[in-house]
Amino acid sequence: EKRVRFAPSPTGAIHIGNIRTALFNYLFSRSEGAKLILRIEDTDLTRSSKDFEKLIFKELNWLGIEWDEGPDKPGDYGPYRQSERLHIYRQYAEQLIKEGKAYRCYCTPEELDKDREESVKRGDIPRYSGRCRHLTKEQEEEYLRQGRKPSIRFIIPDDVIIAFDDMIKGRIEIKSDTLGGDMIIVKSDGMPTYNFAVVIDDTLMRISHVIRGEDHIYNTPKQLLIYEALGFKPPVFAHAPLILGPDRTKLSKRHGNTYIGQYREMGYLPEAMFNFLSLLSWSPEDNVELMSKDEIVRKFNFNKIHSANPVFDIEKLNWMNQHYIQMSSVDRIVDLAIPYFKEAGYIKDVDDKTYEWLKKVVSLFKDGLHYVAELKDKAKMFFDDDIEYDDNLKDDILCGDAMKVLKSFKEEIENMEDISEEFVKTLLKMLQKKIGVKGKAFFMPIRFAITGQDHGPELVMIIPLLGKQKILYRIDKAMK
Ligand code: GLU
Repeated sequence: EKRVRFAPSPTGAIHIGNIRTALFNYLFSRSEGAKLILRIEDTDLTRSSKDFEKLIFKELNWLGIEWDEGPDKPGDYGPYRQSERLHIYRQYAEQLIKEGKAYRCYCTPEELDKDREESVKRGDIPRYSGRCRHLTKEQEEEYLRQGRKPSIRFIIPDDVIIAFDDMIKGRIEIKSDTLGGDMIIVKSDGMPTYNFAVVIDDTLMRISHVIRGEDHIYNTPKQLLIYEALGFKPPVFAHAPLILGPDRTKLSKRHGNTYIGQYREMGYLPEAMFNFLSLLSWSPEDNVELMSKDEIVRKFNFNKIHSANPVFDIEKLNWMNQHYIQMSSVDRIVDLAIPYFKEAGYIKDVDDKTYEWLKKVVSLFKDGLHYVAELKDKAKMFFDDDIEYDDNLKDDILCGDAMKVLKSFKEEIENMEDISEEFVKTLLKMLQKKIGVKGKAFFMPIRFAITGQDHGPELVMIIPLLGKQKILYRIDKAMK
């Protein structure tokens, strides 16, 4: 049976790279008929929190990544939170000590610093000296009497080559003396380290394929040594290439938003994100880019993952999201937009009438949106009575016949009871004839006066949605 896992640490918001790892595990599971396990790696007590764990669930649910076993989905190999498995790690650590493959280390931070310094002075990499490898029982007791809290170190053999065949990267070979000396598997506070816990969990949870980010590739040899020492059979490894920014350095804050939650909060649609992320390191044989989740699952082939680093291209994401927004119903986009409008103080409660009006407002912009939060700016003119005019634009636009246009337009609006689209169409035609100002010289002053902008949706649509009161107020203000 094939089983894969996503194993996030709940120590912060989820990075794009991590959610892509989750997605690849998901696509592997659904395309290969494997089970997907969600395991929470929360052994770093100071940095882990339940809130971050909830956020992990939230992002995965939002994106439509479902798992088969996890903290909230009982299975045969739980518990699925590392903090609930400490007794298991302890037992294996004891076993390794008994077999002479690990030992307790009582070194102080100062001693460890000294080791590192000295190895660097020798022209080596920072390395633990192995000082505690051969302590006598008496020495250990003495250290304990001094109140030292031991960690447990795993013995890294000298001069061996550790090799494995990565599904994406191909053959990887690493010398054991590049690993920094005997490694800590249990910290002095009793918590297992990542490299130790991950081996035990992946084994006990019957994981067949470990798919994770390339940043873990140098952890894999360490893990392989532990597999061997415990007599476990290692899984197949696949290290997905790191995502880069447009300048081809590792994707980071400098490049803009790097957390999946930031995209959710800006109003990127989950299906757009799913589609976009699936194409980082993979493309279907037919090269069709826009695909539903079902199509992606159907076409996905893990063996076709590229080993080159993909570039996170925000323009492409925007293009995709625009497409998915266009495909969405207006109601859906209005529902997504309402929280932004509330946050901006544009609206409070939304009754049926307001909702219908919002639908019309949102429709004006919907097809041009890259993400829904853009509506906060784009639709601003429909909410506040007041608008600000840019002085330079004002000088440019409100000149020549502009005042004449505004004055006559205002008079017409003042006299009207209801402003329907049909009425506005006729009115604008009639007015151009009446005052003898046509085209741009006629439309631009009106547009600028009532929206504060020199571009935007059609005037005949804007005017009825703005309503009489806002229009009159703004024309007065513009004419001052
Ligand atoms: N908790 C590790 C991480 O989030 C898991 C790495 C792995 O998949 O082995 O980076």
